[in-house]
Amino acid sequence: MPELPEVEALKDFLTDHLVGREVVRVLPVAISVLKTYDPPVTAFEGREVTAVHRHGKFLDIEADGLHFVTHLARAGWLHWRDTLPDGPPRPGKGPLALRVALETGEGFDLTEAGTQKRLAVYVVRDPAEIPGVARLGPDPLADDFDEVRFAKLLEGERRQLKGALRDQSLIAGVGNAYSDEILHAAKMSPFKLASSLTPEETRRLYEALRATLAEAVERSRGLAAGRLKAEKKSGLRVHGRAGEPCPVCGDTIREVSFSDSALQYCPTCQTGGKPLADRRLSRLLK
Ligand SMILES: [Zn+2]
Repeated sequence: MPELPEVEALKDFLTDHLVGREVVRVLPVAISVLKTYDPPVTAFEGREVTAVHRHGKFLDIEADGLHFVTHLARAGWLHWRDTLPDGPPRPGKGPLALRVALETGEGFDLTEAGTQKRLAVYVVRDPAEIPGVARLGPDPLADDFDEVRFAKLLEGERRQLKGALRDQSLIAGVGNAYSDEILHAAKMSPFKLASSLTPEETRRLYEALRATLAEAVERSRGLAAGRLKAEKKSGLRVHGRAGEPCPVCGDTIREVSFSDSALQYCPTCQTGGKPLADRRLSRLLK
């Protein structure tokens, strides 16, 4: 799933490839991806792209006052095409969900793998009309997102760090992968309560949050859209690496499974050497 760094890189890539060009065709293939109907997606046709923005994990292509906003969700992706195939795409064949064609013959496809269809496309005059955008918390890479602001967000926050960091209304753009990476960099347990942090720990977590995301953005920047997925995976130190050695201390990276996701962490770096209880596993053993 693309998170802040990958969407930021896509934004850069699309700024280079779309701004100043005219959209000639928007072809929804899987009609369920469209979450708005007024204005229709076809209202985008004949307009010139003026800017590309990011709101958390949402990508926003602006053309003369209209915004084409997409959330790629868990299994969605954007594929750039130097040459789009001739003829209209056939619905129901493969993962293609929507195609955008430019006057130059180039364009991009939005695709979604798997059976859970969560890829979303909105066409709006103001991105704040989209509930998921309207409720976003501050962007952790914004210039004004300082340590004081971060400390205020965590004040009275009763959840565990893993859940708090992933909450888009608290901080925009961090998902399952980068929350694991940030907690590993900060050397904190994912189950630690956010409100229990000392000022020193708050500073450490703030620094880990900013550095982890900034490094990932730096690695992804300038990469073509098609290479971002591999780059994300290769840059991760603990996420998705259960059973592998921790690159910091060499301990074996462990995993806690939930019904629809899993987290990974290093016991030596993060939990004083103690493995966390895997609730699903302990339930099975009862
Ligand atoms: Zn370690």
